[in-house]
Amino acid sequence: MQTGLQLLNTVFGYPAFRGAQTEIIAHVAAGGDALVLMPTGGGKSLCYQIPALLREGCAVVISPLIALMQDQVAALTEAGVNAAVLNSSLDAQAAYQTERDFADAKLDLLYVAPERLMTPRFLALLGRAKLALFAIDEAHCVSQWGHDFRPEYIQLSVLHEQFPGVPRIALTATADELTRAEIIARLQLEDARVFISSFDRPNIHYAIAGKHNARDQLLEFIRTNHAGEAGIVYCLSRKKVEETAGWLSAAGIPALPYHAGLDAQTRARHQQRFVNEDGVVIVATIAFGMGIDKPDVRFVAHLDLPKSIEAYYQETGRAGRDGLPADAWMAYGLGDVVQQRRMIDESEANETFKRVSYGKLDALVGLAEAAGCRRVRLLAYFGEASTPCGNCDNCLKPPRVWNGTETAQKALSCVYRTGQRFGAGHLIDILRGNFTERVRRFHHDELTTFSVGADLTDRQWRAVFRQLIALGFLEADAEAYGAFKLTDAARDVLKGEITVSFRAEAERPRKRERSRKAAFVSGLHSPVAGPLLDALRAWRHATAREHGVPAYVVFHDSTLEAIAATRPRTLDDLRGMSGIGAKKLERYGEALLTIAREN
Ligand code: ADP
Ligand code: ZN
Repeated sequence: MQTGLQLLNTVFGYPAFRGAQTEIIAHVAAGGDALVLMPTGGGKSLCYQIPALLREGCAVVISPLIALMQDQVAALTEAGVNAAVLNSSLDAQAAYQTERDFADAKLDLLYVAPERLMTPRFLALLGRAKLALFAIDEAHCVSQWGHDFRPEYIQLSVLHEQFPGVPRIALTATADELTRAEIIARLQLEDARVFISSFDRPNIHYAIAGKHNARDQLLEFIRTNHAGEAGIVYCLSRKKVEETAGWLSAAGIPALPYHAGLDAQTRARHQQRFVNEDGVVIVATIAFGMGIDKPDVRFVAHLDLPKSIEAYYQETGRAGRDGLPADAWMAYGLGDVVQQRRMIDESEANETFKRVSYGKLDALVGLAEAAGCRRVRLLAYFGEASTPCGNCDNCLKPPRVWNGTETAQKALSCVYRTGQRFGAGHLIDILRGNFTERVRRFHHDELTTFSVGADLTDRQWRAVFRQLIALGFLEADAEAYGAFKLTDAARDVLKGEITVSFRAEAERPRKRERSRKAAFVSGLHSPVAGPLLDALRAWRHATAREHGVPAYVVFHDSTLEAIAATRPRTLDDLRGMSGIGAKKLERYGEALLTIAREN
């Protein structure tokens, strides 16, 4: 009999387990129950796929996401594993055939939607089969307070009652304590061993830039770091999604919009292209992402501020599931804070909810304004202690912090003297001494603050106002659009009782520099662009199309890059390369060698 490690090598083509996989697999393979908390891309699937192959009988995997189940089954089938799926997308004939295969013990893994599982017919079928284990994916869907609640998940406790001898493994990437407790209670996992992995995503480089000209900044970011690569750009509104996709396309970057206002067919088509083709950028509202398993998303960009650190972590987490370097990049400006606060102000929610929302927003703004390591702050928010990462913008290029007490006083005093009725644009004109029509009309050139701030540029002043809001000295007026008011805390600044520090704006966005650590993390990922890689990509595209599966199901980027870098000549050279298992070697080995010879 093969060991877990042997299966990892021969079936999946990977040299070694990652993190807690070894322990989890041993525990479940021996018949234990487990609750697994691992971040996106951590490698949860293998935690039940390998025990499924080690144990006798068929593993039943419960997943709420149809697209995801299909991709997983496609990938397993490519690797030579007997896997199938039962969900509403199948016609009656195909569903019947799958049930027959299951009953005849021809399957190692069967993926089912929870509503199908709960039918008396299917439960009866389960009763007659030999079961290896139950895997409950996206287990946080059982949480009534979570954002992904699925009522059918509640009934999954039936599994334990009806099949007490079959081990269960529940998996999720949702971190918080409350959800964890709820999963344990509702799924009766009191005796399960809990495996909590670090939520760090070391291959993700975090960067948050001051927003000046979002278009140019995003274009520059994509062109210098991610030309020809897949990415997601998040915007707040449908309109902005459409516009952004439009100008990205006009600039020669293949970009597609995705939001709830598009019809289902268009959405499905755009998602398909993003998943199946190389180098497509999707521009989306937060409606996009859940259930998309694409491993080679190289960047996630935010043109608008999310609502909370949880949302930011979840959205940026869609980058780099394959463990190769990826970017989480956000442009953040004065308008963002004002807008998000307004949205909370104007929402119908009760006071408690608003207070919680403000708190969450403040934590995110704190992250955006932080001068220290982004990752340390991010992980601390989830209760994890860490040391500076060396792979975020602030670690790589520590921002200058300056004593801005006097500058803050000028700005706040300007707000006060103009009657707390104006927004940043006009205030900055006064501070910088610009004789605009508006300045003349209100005689604001006669104020003592007129022209006292000519030493700072417009951009620097905007950053100052943004930070004054983030620090809680100014607030957006709920009645007068765009106007700032002083808060109580502003008085202490004006009286000189507290010192204010500002983070200096980088004057010019620059190509991101990778640290040694990042280069180390990237390992193989030295770009090996050239005709061979292009030819391998083209072959992968054609093969994926022929098999009706996404390109990454055939091979990951990292595998193609390794082939391009090492130019294998024999099947033995290919054997043991990461991502090439026995089945794929047999099926594709000769084709790969021919391409390597000819290009
Ligand atoms: P999750 O479900 O936790 O988000 P997946 O199970 O989809 O993550 O795994 C993420 C990626 O990492 C997949 O492409 C998978 O093939 C790869 N992977 C998982 N475990 C390993 C390993 N031990 N070695 C190499 N690659 C791995
Ligand atoms: Zn850092």
